[in-house]
Amino acid sequence: MRAVDLIRKKRDGGENSREEINFLVAGYTCEEIPDYQMAAWLMAAVLCGLKRGEIAALTEAMLHSGEVLELADFAGKKVDKHSTGGIGDKTSLILAPVVAAGGLTVPMISGRGLGHTGGTLDKLESIPGFRVGLSLEEFRHVLRECGMGLIGQTAEIAPADKKIYALRDATCTVENIGLICASIMSKKMAEGIDALVLDVKTGSGAFMQREEDAVELAELMVETAQRMGKKAVALITDMQQPLGRMAGNSNEIAECIEVLRGGGPADLRELSVELAAWMFYLGKRCGSVEEGRNLAAKKIASGEALAKFRRGIELQGGDARVIEDASRLPGARASVDVCSERGGYLRDTNCMQFGIALAMLGGGREKKEDTIDHGVGLEFHKRIGERVAVGERLVTVHYNAEAKLGEAKALIAESFEIGDVAPAARPLVRKIIGG
Ligand code: URA
Repeated sequence: MRAVDLIRKKRDGGENSREEINFLVAGYTCEEIPDYQMAAWLMAAVLCGLKRGEIAALTEAMLHSGEVLELADFAGKKVDKHSTGGIGDKTSLILAPVVAAGGLTVPMISGRGLGHTGGTLDKLESIPGFRVGLSLEEFRHVLRECGMGLIGQTAEIAPADKKIYALRDATCTVENIGLICASIMSKKMAEGIDALVLDVKTGSGAFMQREEDAVELAELMVETAQRMGKKAVALITDMQQPLGRMAGNSNEIAECIEVLRGGGPADLRELSVELAAWMFYLGKRCGSVEEGRNLAAKKIASGEALAKFRRGIELQGGDARVIEDASRLPGARASVDVCSERGGYLRDTNCMQFGIALAMLGGGREKKEDTIDHGVGLEFHKRIGERVAVGERLVTVHYNAEAKLGEAKALIAESFEIGDVAPAARPLVRKIIGG
């Protein structure tokens, strides 16, 4: 087989066989197929689409590019959650300690920033010393000690996703249902979990901007999990505006700590409790989702979830003093406000542009090799539906470098739609698939 023939077939609208997809994934993982050929195939897949058989073959090839974690010797259920990504989407950092505090094991394999969205691993690395690249043995030790662990794809687990993910990030080849399904499910099925909760984002800050595409992706992922013998549910949630008040890396860690302390913004608290409730329910810790909500709220109120987070940070080599003192996180040297030029109601946002602006300031990657400035961030002062006065602050930009500050500010300013009529209220959880 030759990669070039498989690329041509996909480019011309054909369907790659299971053997062809295995060849491509195995060849790319062991570096026999170069980046430029894989990038060409990915772009052909985005432009021409992938058939169900191709998606299943891709998911399985990526899953079997590495090992599947064996956690049968851990008592109790193993559960996880994965989001398709958004702006300010930081619930993993809240859910892992809440659910572990509730007695389940959460072996979380996460990703870095992808496209315009932020990544759990990048956020965690803003905690000085925090290691996301644990060996399997270390990961098992952390899980045993505190019931939660957060790592990235490794040479042992989901190595194909590690490479393909970074390539998709830099080649604009994220937005395809099949590629997203294969990426997420190959990582999650490698975790040795019993149940999975999926947070499928829809809206202007999501990869699936249209709700019907988000539903299709959710159905595909739930079906894939169930075919592999796992319990799964997908919540279709709103990403027409950032989640919480903060977007960046350090500032999102600080916001998660606020929520774990019992404060934080209402939307972030609400979604975190909802997702945790489903994790408790699917993990059979609770007999109903309502009971799961109560348990999640209790674990936050008692301080047990925050204590878990602290222990998890320590076990992964991080400086747990950030919990009391957020100034130990990397910061920004200056800040500037973006203010409204007109009065009225905030009607809508072009949320993806906030992620692009953040990357311009160094908070995300434009090339695979780019390093992240963990200290930069955006702080949002208004939510859709709120009143805005002329000159009132919409966003505070926390920055370190001035090179692209003007461009980033302009992009942020043009991303707000302010009008005279209040918009309809937006539910945070729009649909539940597989529940
Ligand atoms: N999250 C992932 O892990 N992969 C994708 O492709 C998109 C979101």
